[in-house]
Amino acid sequence: MIPVLVLNAGSSSLKYQLLDMDDRSVCASGLVEKIGEDEGSLTHRTPGAAPLTEPGAIPDHGTALDRVLAAFERTGGLTEAPFAVGHRVVHGGDRFSGPTVVDDDVLEQIRELVPLAPLHNPANIAGIEVARARYPGTPQVAVFDTAFHTAMPPHAWRYALPRNLADRLRIRRYGFHGTSHGYVARTAAAHLRRPLDQLALVTLHLGNGCSAAAVAGGRSIDTSMGLTPLGGLVMGTRSGDLDPGIVAHLHREGGLDLDTIDTLLNKESGMRGLAGSNDLREVHAKADAGDPDAAEALAVFCYRIRCTVGAYAAALGRLDAVVFTAGIGENDADVRARVCAGLGVLGVEVDDVRNTARSREPRTISADGSRVVVLVVPTDEELEIAEQTLAVVGGAAR
Ligand code: AMP
Repeated sequence: MIPVLVLNAGSSSLKYQLLDMDDRSVCASGLVEKIGEDEGSLTHRTPGAAPLTEPGAIPDHGTALDRVLAAFERTGGLTEAPFAVGHRVVHGGDRFSGPTVVDDDVLEQIRELVPLAPLHNPANIAGIEVARARYPGTPQVAVFDTAFHTAMPPHAWRYALPRNLADRLRIRRYGFHGTSHGYVARTAAAHLRRPLDQLALVTLHLGNGCSAAAVAGGRSIDTSMGLTPLGGLVMGTRSGDLDPGIVAHLHREGGLDLDTIDTLLNKESGMRGLAGSNDLREVHAKADAGDPDAAEALAVFCYRIRCTVGAYAAALGRLDAVVFTAGIGENDADVRARVCAGLGVLGVEVDDVRNTARSREPRTISADGSRVVVLVVPTDEELEIAEQTLAVVGGAAR
């Protein structure tokens, strides 16, 4: 057994998975919620057993990890220190282009990136610190959401702002969801039985957060999220791209201060702002019941994605496949059909029967004669983090 523990620490949550990298199987997974609130909870899952749910206050991430380890003790699975711990870290800036073994210096650099991801990096750091304290002899590896996109050319990442100011404040496109885009690109190539380095792909991560990436030869050459995960496609609660003049307009004409605008754009916009729900299943239900706002919201959501695929086909200069992933991308046949309906001009033709068939496996949903293959590939960010963790701590150590 090669146990690798994957931790994904949010500001008030801790998601975890224990994988046996001998056969890539999941030994256990779970979620600690509402850390720092009065009523927290832990849900611990082991394959073939009923989930273990424990309510109770969990004041901090250290206590959260203690609870997780106690759950492992009771249910088995992790009796000794793991072989390595892989941590999801949201922002690696332009410093981290791959998985990195954490030492004091690396931790300090992740800390210096907090201004670029004030909600995410502090939680990720908390996760690293508690895991280091519990397992001092175990390698800790940071796997960055931004890393996959660090090879983007300057014409894709540079914003047209005064150079000195942008450089001083580190303002550029970084992109996110990189672990997912990288994983589904590789899996798509394997599914197509074609070398990844010869493929031009557009990968669409459509979940609560949504982003697109143009992937040439296995490298991201453009992506829709920017300095922060607020840019690009319309999302569950995030606006995605706006005319930047709207921010000043909201302030001057709407009387909103900056923090209020930030909250508005991150938490109250997107599908929630347009249709009253950030859950696409609910938006569909409303639209089916005749709600015109929900119907329009779905049209806006799909139109933005379709335009982005078109733009990325131009960026790539060629398009071999479009890959759908994450909660919406994997499950929502209607969104997939609407996005692809306008892409006939690129040679995209979806097969309705294939599109509506349900499966947990990577699959082709385009018609046999479609010039561009359309795929649905379930993402697995935890597995990808564990793979990258194992790669960096050295398979030789097994
Ligand atoms: P994620 O962030 O990847 O967990 O994705 C969350 C989004 O996926 C939410 O908008 C859900 O409504 C959507 N979703 C999950 N399952 C389905 C489904 N069966 N059909 C449509 N949307 C779904």
